[in-house]
Amino acid sequence: MFNSIQLNTSYTSQHHVHVGYEIGNKIAEYLSATFTLKKAVLIADENVHRLYKDTFIKDISGLFDEPVFCLVPEGEQSKSLALFSEIIAKTLEAKVERITPVIVIGGGVTGDLGGYVAASALRGMPLIHIPTSLLAMVDSSVGGKTGINHSVGKNLIGSFYEPKAVFTDIKFLETLPQKEIINGLGEVIKYGMIKDENILTTLKSLPLFEPFSYSKEWEQLIGTCARIKSDIVTKDFKESGLREILNFGHTFAHVIERVRGYENSSHGEAVYMGMWGAVKLSNLLGFNIDIANLSAFRTLYDSSFQPQESLEELTNLMLHDKKVKDGSIRVIILEELGKARATGITDLSLIRESWNYIIQEFE
Ligand code: NAD
Ligand code: ZN
Repeated sequence: MFNSIQLNTSYTSQHHVHVGYEIGNKIAEYLSATFTLKKAVLIADENVHRLYKDTFIKDISGLFDEPVFCLVPEGEQSKSLALFSEIIAKTLEAKVERITPVIVIGGGVTGDLGGYVAASALRGMPLIHIPTSLLAMVDSSVGGKTGINHSVGKNLIGSFYEPKAVFTDIKFLETLPQKEIINGLGEVIKYGMIKDENILTTLKSLPLFEPFSYSKEWEQLIGTCARIKSDIVTKDFKESGLREILNFGHTFAHVIERVRGYENSSHGEAVYMGMWGAVKLSNLLGFNIDIANLSAFRTLYDSSFQPQESLEELTNLMLHDKKVKDGSIRVIILEELGKARATGITDLSLIRESWNYIIQEFE
């Protein structure tokens, strides 16, 4: 079955995002039409490789005479200089050329690392993203950010590098652990809040607590989210303004992740909690956003947030977030559902009150 939506998402005219179910044939067709089938670098998440090595991955790698395999162990620690350097070495030692495709199959970790390999080796090799986690499908595979972590901080090394194509095969979600689906849903809800409330309506109709199974609604939902991100990014590739609205909920979320420790914290859950703060803040500024839009998904996120830090300390931690301009805290607020904008908050009591609201809800 092949059911691809081709999104009109070009940062340049070359770039496409395809979303569909069981689109292996379509990917093979594209690769055969676009590249000489001599070499390819395949960078795959280790879990995904284990699950798909005899099916999807075999079909793709089998197209090439000399596929070079690089496996990425699960976890954020794989976005390291050490693994980056190891994969670059393997790539160069295989005597790849500048036209050799780099095909990256995995979640956001593999995508960020593999994307940066493609951006760097030979000053740039053609990058094909095949996202396999919900978060990667709706967020990290779209937008051209690639990179790795440094001991000084997350995502501090990297570049903006456009993939030549993104192929999103929703079938991968059938093996994605439920907690990773819920992690990705944090961003999906975010798109519903900042851009398209139909996303929230569709989400409410989906059986989110059951194991993933394909439906047209899921396919449309994922396509819509990818399109929203790519539309925003197309207008603002290097993050000077508009792209900021994708950070809705994130200024709070980054502090939540920091105080809980990144390893104990799901990003999607932190974003979900952060959006409660951002809605409260919007309402304190005089807008009228119904929290029911968020509370409808409350049962997905059942862990608590009971920080040792005071409201003031949490607020001060936001001052260290990079979204701070001129001493004010830059936050994304909603003027109405689907209409987001960035604003600088100088009256920090409003932020403290928003923190209080989050803590009361999630204690
Ligand atoms: P991840 O890549 O760690 O994947 C989550 C888990 O799911 C891993 O254990 C992985 O092995 C497993 N997995 C992935 N696909 C699977 C499948 N189909 N079946 C079974 N298991 C599967 O995490 P993630 O949430 O996808 O991505 C998080 C990363 O993305 C972070 O490093 C973050 O910084 C980055 N990110 C980047 C951008 C960007 O614009 N580049 C945006 C958001 C997040
Ligand atoms: Zn996010």
